[in-house]
Amino acid sequence: MHQKLEKLSLFESATLRLTGWYVLLLMTLSILFSVVLYQIGTSEFNHALAPVHPGEVELFYPGDGTTPLRLQRIGESTNRLVVSLVVFNITVLVGGTIVSYLLARRTLQPIKEAHEAQSRFASDAAHELRTPLAVMQTELEVNLRDKKATARTLRPILASSLEEVSRLRTLTNRLLLLASQQEPVIGLVELEPVVVDAVTHIIPLAQQRQITIDNQVGPSRAKGNAESIADVLGILLDNAIKYSPKRSKVFVTSSETAHDIQLHVRDEGPGIPKLEQGKIFERFYRVDVSRSKDDVAGHGLGLSLARRMVEEMNGKITVRSDGQSGATFTVSLPK
Ligand code: ADP
Repeated sequence: MHQKLEKLSLFESATLRLTGWYVLLLMTLSILFSVVLYQIGTSEFNHALAPVHPGEVELFYPGDGTTPLRLQRIGESTNRLVVSLVVFNITVLVGGTIVSYLLARRTLQPIKEAHEAQSRFASDAAHELRTPLAVMQTELEVNLRDKKATARTLRPILASSLEEVSRLRTLTNRLLLLASQQEPVIGLVELEPVVVDAVTHIIPLAQQRQITIDNQVGPSRAKGNAESIADVLGILLDNAIKYSPKRSKVFVTSSETAHDIQLHVRDEGPGIPKLEQGKIFERFYRVDVSRSKDDVAGHGLGLSLARRMVEEMNGKITVRSDGQSGATFTVSLPK
């Protein structure tokens, strides 16, 4: 039985186990109820068909002529009661099993979905890690075997491996953050220094691509977590720089409504097609356009992580783009 259960999927075996527990509980109650009913029934029969009172005539069962008729009646009634109780219990068993199975499936459905999402995440993550690791391994092995290799020829290989290692570090950091269950501590955050920090951090990358970052965020406060806001801005700025042409501009601005503060990151890149705008926040999703997939390094985790962090701060992240000239990402946080 145990081995058979192992062959079923985790979800199916858990459903069967839970069904088993439900049925066991139901049958225990049903049998207990039947025993009590049997006791009451037989005692009522005995009471109703009590021994003959003085003056009453004892009648005998015509079948054998020796068994008193009342005892015969008690026996028949008891038999009928037992049959009814057995039928009742079989009905409870069959009906209860079906209802319990459906109930168990329903109970376990959210767990099944969470489990499936987790295994999909793990396999996608492993897939993302495997390809660059395999490329790096081959490259290093080939060069290690090359007897004529010199420091000069090996240097570019090492540099490319180092670049790959740094990408893998970003990837593993993002995976760890996505897997973590820790909720950020929320408080009132001064946005200006956080934005300045995030911009300063990304300037070397912007300089490599000769991109200017125009930060226009003035003093303002929002409810959130400084570290998370800086991480979100880091992701948005990183994308704005990655997907924009060289020598373009990235703008960081803010605005406010009655209850919220908005931070906007706008670039002059290719923009994001309308149809893709809902999907880019999904894990591992990358827009299937050669300009973003082949030329720009990434794993499709940045925006899903950004959205998760913004939602943990009770905020919202949206994108606006006509799909041609630039994209504007807006992070909205409560005041
Ligand atoms: P990654 O950048 O690692 O691919 P993200 O989750 O950060 O992953 O982004 C998902 C996809 O959204 C990117 O692959 C890219 O196609 C698109 N995208 C994100 N930001 C921009 C942007 N500023 N301009 C154009 N496309 C973008």
